[in-house]
Amino acid sequence: MDEPRSAIDFEPTRAAGLERLARFLPQAGSAYARHRNRDLGPDRPASVSRLSPWVRRRLITEEEVCRQAIDRFGPWESGAIVREIFWRTYFKGWLEMRPRVWDAYREERDDALARTESDTKLGDAYARALAGETGIDAFDAWARELVVTGYLHNHARMSFASIWIFTLDLPWTLGADFFFRHLMDGDPASNTLSWRWVAGLHSRGKHYVATPDAIEECSGGRFRPEGLAEDPEPLDDEGPHPDAEALAWRGEAGEGPAFLLVTAEDCRVSSLPGLPASIAGTAGALLEDWRSPLAIGEPARAFADGALKEALRQAGAEEAPVFGVGDMEALIVAIEESGARRVVSAYAPVGPVADWLKLLEARLCERGIALQRLSRAWDRTAWPFATRGYFRFSKTIPHFVSAAGIPFVR
Ligand SMILES: Cc1cc2nc3c(=O)[nH]c(=O)nc-3n(C[C@H](O)[C@H](O)[C@H](O)COP(=O)(O)OP(=O)(O)OC[C@H]3O[C@@H](n4cnc5c(N)ncnc54)[C@H](O)[C@@H]3O)c2cc1C
Repeated sequence: MDEPRSAIDFEPTRAAGLERLARFLPQAGSAYARHRNRDLGPDRPASVSRLSPWVRRRLITEEEVCRQAIDRFGPWESGAIVREIFWRTYFKGWLEMRPRVWDAYREERDDALARTESDTKLGDAYARALAGETGIDAFDAWARELVVTGYLHNHARMSFASIWIFTLDLPWTLGADFFFRHLMDGDPASNTLSWRWVAGLHSRGKHYVATPDAIEECSGGRFRPEGLAEDPEPLDDEGPHPDAEALAWRGEAGEGPAFLLVTAEDCRVSSLPGLPASIAGTAGALLEDWRSPLAIGEPARAFADGALKEALRQAGAEEAPVFGVGDMEALIVAIEESGARRVVSAYAPVGPVADWLKLLEARLCERGIALQRLSRAWDRTAWPFATRGYFRFSKTIPHFVSAAGIPFVR
């Protein structure tokens, strides 16, 4: 069987991300708006940017992509790509204000994983879905493409999730876990909330139902699956969303030499606001194993690993030690030996890295060392507006863009 190949290299460096952006830019205007749903396959030229792994890691920032697109096409013609970029910002802000949705996802996922062990029928169906052996042509091809390349087009993600939930009748959290383990751009907010959106749990009662016609059209005629669920009910869970909690931008101030802790959450270290002038020591923390109790896919791991190395290079600390999830005590020893009484790190949004940093913070606190999270104006401006649906949030995009100093008139 031919394995899917990716037409582009996903090299986890800022230079490669900027080069990818420069190549994509000429088609970021009306061509993107017209053709972005088309997915001709991993080995064919893309109608989309395939920038998400770099943007996810902030090797290039949302602000940079918006600035270049608006600068080139003006606010009207760049509208489609700018709105897509802001989906990421919206989802991050929404989850940040509802961390219980993330906690509930993790609990439900672990319950569902346990059931795949005890319930043979579920376990077999789950194994067939992961292996791409369901007999549904598009689904099986996408399952293999995801594992081999670490990337899927947005329309493939939507259709895959819809078939997983409504045709195969598998728990949505297991599908979200499969994506999160294998996507190079695997993101706790975009992934969890997109799966919830497809299921009808995000915009309550509105679910995404994949159809053979839409799949045939978007895949350029490569697939026309049969036997898809035709009129499924959206999933329903615990009732209304939890109320939005106030955002807590903790630990911004601080004096004296600091220990810089770099994670792969925000790799544009040199542009972090409030970076102390005096750094007593630097280390990296590679925390990908906390994405899931199951193994992380090779492309996803390699991209995160490379992105962290790039971030350390940017911080002028190429030789700094890198600690894994099980090395918290060794990291604390390194921090204490540096003599710093505070640790600074880029703000990690709700997700596995933030969970790990919370545990670290508690242990540091016992030793009288503070953890300070450096946050970006982009997030501080936009996240508080992610209280309801995306449509409402997107109306404020001109304000967000202007606040970032991007000229919005042409
Ligand atoms: C079930 C499901 C799971 C998903 N999981 C993830 C995930 O783990 N990580 C992730 O980054 N995206 C996720 N997405 C969103 C989206 O599919 C990808 O961001 C997009 O396909 C990336 O490809 P691209 O860079 O070519 O996108 P383009 O179409 O070129 O879009 C440009 C940029 O806009 C942003 N963007 C576009 N669409 C979305 C979106 N719906 N949500 C958030 N950002 C968006 C990305 O940064 C992307 O690079 C998921 C979507 C679905 C339906």
